[in-house]
Amino acid sequence: MGKDFIKLLNEIRACRICLDAPLRKKLAHEPRPVLQVSQKAKIAICGQAPGTKVHLSGQPFTDRSGDRLREWMGIGEDVFYDASKLAIIPMGFCYPGQNDKGADLPPRVECKATWHDALFAELPQLELIILVGKYAQAYHLKGHPQFHEYSKFPLYKLVESYRIFLESPVLPRYLPLPHPSWRNNNWVNKNDWFREDYLPLLQAKISKLL
Ligand code: SF4
Repeated sequence: MGKDFIKLLNEIRACRICLDAPLRKKLAHEPRPVLQVSQKAKIAICGQAPGTKVHLSGQPFTDRSGDRLREWMGIGEDVFYDASKLAIIPMGFCYPGQNDKGADLPPRVECKATWHDALFAELPQLELIILVGKYAQAYHLKGHPQFHEYSKFPLYKLVESYRIFLESPVLPRYLPLPHPSWRNNNWVNKNDWFREDYLPLLQAKISKLL
């Protein structure tokens, strides 16, 4: 690993911006950045932000959504938590807290403003970036001409257009994915193509890059 990369990673792991110099309301708890990254992995999962369980465990996707994500990807925990094979880089590294209805808040804006450009610049080896949810999709696809067309539609329309992004001649390629939460069960159950076409293709791509 390069010196610049190690320095950057150490700075992220020690980050307290959302307590000491927040751009919006101060974080209500101690920051605990949760990410998994190396300069070897060719695949990255880019999601939203840790929830309460991940905040406690300090390990990404240690919840039911993680079990489902691993099932969708066709890999076990041994591969999923191997940083040399898979990077996990959410749009907010720390648990953002909850609103007064008990729902998780969006990823902290400070993370994207401070870290993401620098971190992805250190990861030129990435070939496939799996985008879980709208925040990751908006950040990673913002310069993609097709994204402007699809961003006018609901998130699922973007997922349905996965082949356009996946067939891009430029690396890394992107694959929009719905969040693997139970909240999306209805959508998953209604869309046979997602289970029968999309997931086998996703698993084949992953297997080739591992
Ligand atoms: S959410 Fe990001 S910017 Fe905020 S304290 Fe955590 S690592 Fe730093």
